[in-house]
Amino acid sequence: MPIQQLPDTLVNQIAAGEVVERPASVVKELVENALDAGARRIDIDLEEGGVRLIRIRDDGIGIAAGELPLAVARHATSKIASLDDLETVATLGFRGEALPSIASVSRFSLGSRRQGDDHGAALSVDGGRIGEVAPKPLPPGTTVEVRDLFYNVPARRKFLRKERTELGHIEEWLRSLALARPDVELRVSHNGKPSRRYRSSGTALDRDGFALARLGETLGEDFGRQALRVDHAAAGLRLHGWIAQPAYSRASADQQYLYVNGRAVRDRSVAHAVRQAYADVLFHGRHPAYVLFLELDPARVDVNVHPAKHEVRFRDARLVHDFVYRTLHDSLADTRAGNAPLVDA
Ligand code: ADP
Ligand code: MG
Repeated sequence: MPIQQLPDTLVNQIAAGEVVERPASVVKELVENALDAGARRIDIDLEEGGVRLIRIRDDGIGIAAGELPLAVARHATSKIASLDDLETVATLGFRGEALPSIASVSRFSLGSRRQGDDHGAALSVDGGRIGEVAPKPLPPGTTVEVRDLFYNVPARRKFLRKERTELGHIEEWLRSLALARPDVELRVSHNGKPSRRYRSSGTALDRDGFALARLGETLGEDFGRQALRVDHAAAGLRLHGWIAQPAYSRASADQQYLYVNGRAVRDRSVAHAVRQAYADVLFHGRHPAYVLFLELDPARVDVNVHPAKHEVRFRDARLVHDFVYRTLHDSLADTRAGNAPLVDA
């Protein structure tokens, strides 16, 4: 075969392989867009575990009608404009890949009305073919509909699991989001029935009382009752959140939530530091439970490691590891000594 430029739709479908693994990845990308748009309330309607339908409605800033085609174009984003911006990026998205990828493997529609505009507009994409922008009566904010995920990619569709399993993945991701953003209201429905509602606190994470309530809502009352509050800063790093007392240990690593600058991530080195900190106080084979927020200068952490953005790379990984270890180790030691855990005054 001669070398040829692949058509856009195919390029998007190939990229979708990295961004869209299953319905939960679609929910993640769309909800992150809603958060980046400043949404205070997000409605998530699902059918058949999200395979048949994912509809996400937000009350964020919205998209101008004229920009709808750009929103579904590859590498088009309103979040960065230069490499320097990438160094300091504070939004969850920045690659301009999610919407075109999702739209290339589903029956997709995007409707939006900017705050302050009189009416909205919508655009459909079917299997990558982009339709015309048409006016549409809509409330302020954005609604994205994704139907029949992978209907045109049988190889991918085969890997989808039972409705309940896919729904479980979505709920797990929403739980992790709910922990990080108690200031946002989330309402979920499945097959036409309300299934989950996280009420908004009206404030961000700093009001302990409320954040604790959401901790109970998401991880169960038992976790909230015994969790130790941690809040410690040093060397430009801050670690705050809750760690479970050793007696609350788990048979699996099912309650381990780590956020770096507000982004839920998995990090081997931090996970290792936590394990080390618990090493002396946990029985073999038991797993600690925690909800930890690590904050640091965005320039000290690279978030552009993988398209799905589950991973980050720290400039000084050793420093981060030792800081996490030391903070948790001291907190746990304090409780054994009968003192309060580590919370900076
Ligand atoms: P990214 O989030 O990386 O910028 P996306 O493909 O997810 O890329 O979205 C493309 C663009 O569409 C965003 O940069 C944003 O301007 C716009 N957009 C997407 N979803 C929303 C939304 N819910 N509200 C407002 N704007 C949105
Ligand atoms: Mg995005």
